[in-house]
Amino acid sequence: MLNLSVLLEDGARSVPDKDCLVFGDLRLNYALTNMIANQVANLLVSRGVRPGDRVALASPNLPYFPFVYYGALKAGAVVVPLNVLLTPREIAYHLEDSGAKALFAFTGSPELPLGERAFEAFGQVDSCETYIDLPGTPGATESTIEGAETLWKALEGQPGEFETVQTGAEDTAVIIYTSGTTGRPKGAELSHNNLLMNAVISARVVNAHPDGRDVSLTVLPLFHIFGQTVMLNGPLYRGGTLVLMPRFDGDEALRLMEKEGVTGFAGVPTMYWGLLNAVQAAEPGAYDLEKIASNMVDAASGGASLPGQLAEDFTKTFGVEIKEGYGLSETSPVVSFNNPKVLAKTGSIGLPVWGVEMKLIDPDWNEVQDEGEIAVRGHCVMKGYHNRPEANAEVLRDGWFRTGDIARRDEDGMYFIVDRSKDMIIRGGYNVYPREIEEVLMTHPAVSLAAVVGVPHDTHGEEVKAFVIKDADTDATEQEIIDFAKERLAAYKYPRSVEFRTELPMTATGKILKRELR
Ligand code: AMP
Repeated sequence: MLNLSVLLEDGARSVPDKDCLVFGDLRLNYALTNMIANQVANLLVSRGVRPGDRVALASPNLPYFPFVYYGALKAGAVVVPLNVLLTPREIAYHLEDSGAKALFAFTGSPELPLGERAFEAFGQVDSCETYIDLPGTPGATESTIEGAETLWKALEGQPGEFETVQTGAEDTAVIIYTSGTTGRPKGAELSHNNLLMNAVISARVVNAHPDGRDVSLTVLPLFHIFGQTVMLNGPLYRGGTLVLMPRFDGDEALRLMEKEGVTGFAGVPTMYWGLLNAVQAAEPGAYDLEKIASNMVDAASGGASLPGQLAEDFTKTFGVEIKEGYGLSETSPVVSFNNPKVLAKTGSIGLPVWGVEMKLIDPDWNEVQDEGEIAVRGHCVMKGYHNRPEANAEVLRDGWFRTGDIARRDEDGMYFIVDRSKDMIIRGGYNVYPREIEEVLMTHPAVSLAAVVGVPHDTHGEEVKAFVIKDADTDATEQEIIDFAKERLAAYKYPRSVEFRTELPMTATGKILKRELR
């Protein structure tokens, strides 16, 4: 048996009284968390959900997420986590595409009326038979959504014991819809084995606190594969505690770090940037930064390139080196790590993790040296996109998966992402990689965040343009920033225009939406 839910069950056996989930004033130990997941499993079985059936889950980072995630896994079902920002049309698409039989959705809030959107979508998809409302008020048995049944009502009378379904290692555990910055989202099917191996291997990379505490601030969205890695490898694999945070806010994150004695943080680069900004803007004495730094022993970044300057500033303030990881939804996700304990270089995504191979290829799958598209092979590679034979034929061959990310490899075998193949700017026949330019701009003292895109140009085809968030206390001009880049970059690369913004459009996972900037 290799059901991923063994992670939670093991904690319930070995550390039943230890905090598993912390959300606000709510603290749930392993035994209780596991018991509620058992009730969810019983509920699903009673509603006709069979092993292999899909169960969709739309919830921010609240205890509901692990309850339903593990409950569905225990029943042998496949979890389909949904982005909480989807419109009814998009939710209906995901339900139909995955063939979901049940949908659990958080009621939401006036600003995020998730439940209403989900319930509307549910009404449009006949094959989805069960809708369960995860209410805003914990324990509520009446839903604020007309016609919906709440989880707590549905769980009444469900036993707290459940015999976990014996799934095979290669059975699908989760279908993750990839962020889909291009084309319609596709569901990457990840097996129990994919996710268990990822949990075990990522847990090996984490630094332990000398006094044995293991408390992860869990703010990366759990519906994203990176957030799930935090959930699976942290508390569950290592018997630690997840401090759940539904929305990133630098001040709130610092407050929770201090209050809960957080030992580990995983985030996308924009969150690191947000933490540093919050420290800078804080009133003197607002946080005990020394205490926060003394608890914090582990920091990991992924999902986008971590600017070297940001990493350095973080280490200066928090006393921890950030390990940059690289991965994708399709690779469960961890492929490589730039790990100071092994070998780390600024700007690198490091070396492949145990049991994973990386190589560089050209568009025809031929292996190339030095620079090309990253291809990955090993236990992390997805089974394939759900019901997409053509897309699978494009990206999977002989066990290798092509990532669409362009990298170079140095003499030590370390990989450096140059950019996404799609994110490349072609200016007058020259390839320009935005990443390189953003790195340079970020070293300017007035620049706090930079995103570079290609905009249409009559003669060059595309022209390089930068969007910049400036530090609050600077009056740097557009020309000054252009000159700074011009001094440091080849003539075809430096941005010809710079637009100042106070914020940049981002996905829920904190990735800058370059398409919107274009
Ligand atoms: P997702 O499937 O949403 O996790 O997105 C995966 C994509 O994020 C990859 O294909 C990369 O383009 C990007 N990515 C992930 N980690 C890194 C990293 N450390 N540096 C640069 N890009 C990254």
